[in-house]
Amino acid sequence: MELTLWTYEGPPHVGAMRIATSMEGVHYVLHAPQGDTYADLLFTMIERRGLRPPVTYTTFQARDLGGDTAELVQRSIRQAVERFQPEALLVGESCTAELIQDQPGALAGGMNLGVPLVNLELPAYSKKENWGAAETFYQLVRTLLKGEMPAPGTPKPSPSRWRQEGRRPRVNLLGPSLLGFRCRDDVLEITRLLAEHGIDVAVVAPLGARPADLIRIPTADANVCLYPEVAGPVCSWLERSFGQPVVRTVPIGIGATAAFLRELHGVLDLALPADLQEVEGQPSEAERRSRLPWYSRSVDSTYLTGKRVFIFADATHAIAAARIASKELGFQVVGLGSYSREQAREVRAAAAELGLEALITDDYLVVEKAMGEAAAELVLGTQMERHSAKRLGLPCAVISAPLHVQDVPARYSPQMGWEGANVIFDSWVHPLMMGLEEHLIGMFRHDFEFVDGHRSHLGDGAPTAAGTGEPEAAPATPAPAPGTITAAAAVREALESLWTADGEAELAKIPFFVRGKVRKNTEAFARERGLERIDAEALYDAKAHFSR
Ligand code: SF4
Repeated sequence: MELTLWTYEGPPHVGAMRIATSMEGVHYVLHAPQGDTYADLLFTMIERRGLRPPVTYTTFQARDLGGDTAELVQRSIRQAVERFQPEALLVGESCTAELIQDQPGALAGGMNLGVPLVNLELPAYSKKENWGAAETFYQLVRTLLKGEMPAPGTPKPSPSRWRQEGRRPRVNLLGPSLLGFRCRDDVLEITRLLAEHGIDVAVVAPLGARPADLIRIPTADANVCLYPEVAGPVCSWLERSFGQPVVRTVPIGIGATAAFLRELHGVLDLALPADLQEVEGQPSEAERRSRLPWYSRSVDSTYLTGKRVFIFADATHAIAAARIASKELGFQVVGLGSYSREQAREVRAAAAELGLEALITDDYLVVEKAMGEAAAELVLGTQMERHSAKRLGLPCAVISAPLHVQDVPARYSPQMGWEGANVIFDSWVHPLMMGLEEHLIGMFRHDFEFVDGHRSHLGDGAPTAAGTGEPEAAPATPAPAPGTITAAAAVREALESLWTADGEAELAKIPFFVRGKVRKNTEAFARERGLERIDAEALYDAKAHFSR
């Protein structure tokens, strides 16, 4: 058992639903108790789709458990096939159905349905949503391509066969799905980018594909693994079984987009255009297509340099964000982590490059604690981190699923490619206090409107207690009964009593977004030296000590 309040991912059958709903001509029969239809809302409300997901639930109730639930499964399958006439059928169970072991996939297999059938075995008690999506996509592609497998010993097709065939090279874009972060616009942006380089897109899947499209996958010269969480396993299988090379660089950020294009040109044996040639110490011509390099170099961005940023997201977006933050915006990454256990190795490697230890967890409270301890000035995360950052009074931008409805915007807002980098620049810088305001509040602390922690471009009112940059207790923590002192409160009180009035006055002069960090460092310094009082002098001694 694990006490859980918020969860980063749903159960694996929600991942399967994402695949079925992203596609056309696929139907999913889900053996599930009454009430599991809640998952429909993810698609009709968050993705704002005007269609019901292509899912038939068996919706068994308590009274059905005394009877023949297997018969209910067969009836549901028969009715779904007759009514929806799918081109491929997925059959699987939700968590509760897994316990009663009706084996709906095996039952469907014995029904002679005349439709390609995928029996989904998704262990709901050990795996989660992204794993469920990846497994479903892999099993579906495998089932549909069973008849197309090359005989053993067949030589691999050359990725430059397009040249002999007198056509343009073509690739598949694999991984975009509903409830993925900005997939709709990423696909448009990458398709456009490829077209500029004379590369066609053969199949985009699962988003918008039909089963017949999946059968065309091997006709492309390479696969682009846009979202490894969903398409990683299928790309590896296609590479092993059909000899299709995989482009694995995810084009989020300027450097990554350029690296993606270079990798793609290499794989397809295309001459690298002059504007993609690497230029020592500065962006290549192609990289100037985004405004991010100039915006981040312009003098207005100087105050961004060294801002302490904490990143927690799915592995793909966390790794991309760390690279953009450290290499393209000049931030200092002070925390990097992910809830994607399947890609933990990659996140650990990215963190190690930054001299950090990756935080791999799916407990948002652990993330919130780490965020507070890192004394971050900006948080890049999921909806969970947005809530945590709000409690801690920290600016935050959302960079990954899980997402709320506002992250499926009406306007064009990719994360990938040159335009994606523009969108990223705006959305990450927006929550920060603007340079002039930061400078003025640091100089004049007694304004009645532009008070400490105020961010006027966000329409901030008076700052919260947390606006001082010092951690605020989460409201979820129950208040102690009157008269009781918690251990944490006692420690806090003891530390606060160390501060003299002039020490506190000096501390108040420190800009609010680094004040929490300075307070902690000074207290640690005082404890280490056995100081009984923290006055202005102790504060400056600590400052000198830590800046050494
Ligand atoms: S079966 Fe699983 S998804 Fe459905 S309500 Fe129970 S725990 Fe939630």
